[in-house]
Amino acid sequence: MPETIFSKIIRGEIPCHKVYEDAHTLAFLDIGPLSAGHTLVIPKEPAPTLDALSDESAAALGRVLPRLCRAVMKATGTTAYNVLQNNGADAHQAVFHVHFHIIPKFPARPSGASGLGIAWNSGKLEPEAAKSLAASISSSIQ
Ligand code: 5GP
Repeated sequence: MPETIFSKIIRGEIPCHKVYEDAHTLAFLDIGPLSAGHTLVIPKEPAPTLDALSDESAAALGRVLPRLCRAVMKATGTTAYNVLQNNGADAHQAVFHVHFHIIPKFPARPSGASGLGIAWNSGKLEPEAAKSLAASISSSIQ
């Protein structure tokens, strides 16, 4: 995959405000925070999207994410936060190296930096379509 800015951050060629590092993962503050404490958690493996990530890196991320959420909560005093993970340009991914956003959510602030805003345009799950869709997804699991 093409080199991204996150690979340079992993190698220490570009500075970041690091909050955590282990053999498989790195966490640092987002340069364009949606709220104070907005943190990015990335695998050191250079996979562009989550579906391309190895089980080993996925497990390493899964192990560390709750711990980092607790740390962001403690440091910022927030009790609410979103974990966001974008895949593909159509899903607002800008950096094609897997990353999880931990975004504290605060009450609306004059500065606007209260966290993630979401337009949740929900539809309706029709039973027949749901049955075949669930079966299709289930049989696609490898
Ligand atoms: P995406 O839209 O791909 O899910 O989010 C990419 C995130 O990476 C953005 O929130 C953006 O602010 C952050 N970002 C991009 N370049 C840098 C950088 O050089 N340093 C840091 N710390 N964050 C970055």
